[in-house]
Amino acid sequence: MIPFDFDYCKAETVEEALKAYSEFAEEGKSPLYYAGGTEIVTFCRKGQVTPGAVIDIKSIPECRELGKKDGMAVFGSAVTLSDIVDSKAFPLLERACRGIADRTVRNRLTLGGNICGRLPYREAVLPFLLCDGEALVAGKDSTRWVPLKTTFDKRLKLAPGELLLQLRVPGEALELPYSLVRKTTGGKVAYPVVTAAGVKAKDGVRVALSGALGYPVLLEPTGDASAEGLLEPFAGSFIFDVLASSDYRRLLTELSVSLVLEELGV
Ligand SMILES: Cc1cc2nc3c(=O)[nH]c(=O)nc-3n(C[C@H](O)[C@H](O)[C@H](O)COP(=O)(O)OP(=O)(O)OC[C@H]3O[C@@H](n4cnc5c(N)ncnc54)[C@H](O)[C@@H]3O)c2cc1C
Repeated sequence: MIPFDFDYCKAETVEEALKAYSEFAEEGKSPLYYAGGTEIVTFCRKGQVTPGAVIDIKSIPECRELGKKDGMAVFGSAVTLSDIVDSKAFPLLERACRGIADRTVRNRLTLGGNICGRLPYREAVLPFLLCDGEALVAGKDSTRWVPLKTTFDKRLKLAPGELLLQLRVPGEALELPYSLVRKTTGGKVAYPVVTAAGVKAKDGVRVALSGALGYPVLLEPTGDASAEGLLEPFAGSFIFDVLASSDYRRLLTELSVSLVLEELGV
């Protein structure tokens, strides 16, 4: 049960959503955009968030797109992880989404909720970080495409009231050889101790991580292209939590990155 009342607004357009956000904010209602609602409802039940209003974005056409446009593969923020898996549109993204929860839960979880939510894994962002992904962000003054390389730093940097509409990657990224290694300590349906994903792009192999450091990150290439070399800047940064100690996580991350590199022929 959610032990407090809140307003519910179902937005049919981007403009309606932005307007509703701004009006609720002016009334001091600390509004939240609402996609699958899984995280919002869980956190409301625990009293960890207490929005006075939620704005449902699932009917906004831009948030529901999934397909190709102008040579880019486009994924709406309200598309569910099951929709992404079923579409087979982006093999690496499909693989990343398959690792998250189980089928029944994925029917509800959305791409935007995974990337904008509070849970630190945000595994669905890894393919976009690896493949020069961009985010379409709507705010009160503009709607613009922004490269994730500049707007994703541990989390997507959105100003208050900004709404993530879509993510996209260049069409050729869909064809890149890829690898993904996901390690858990609690069986298949569990949060990752580490997820290491990589692609072989024209400029070389790129690797990104989730779970290991407490946030998703694209590893910067170093002079040493081994797993140890790539992870060197993060020595001492591996998190320690109920899933694994930092030493165990570091070892598992080195192993996972080595496997990814090996699979990509490095
Ligand atoms: C059982 C379970 C297991 C999970 N396991 C994993 C896992 O292994 N790995 C992993 O990475 N994640 C995991 N998750 C996290 C999950 O992927 C996200 O919590 C989920 O995708 C949230 O989606 P939602 O649509 O329900 O978000 P909501 O609850 O609707 O929203 C979550 C947050 O994101 C904001 N938001 C949502 N959409 C937008 C948008 N378009 N623009 C701006 N803000 C937005 C909301 O305001 C809210 O603050 C798991 C979740 C569950 C329930």
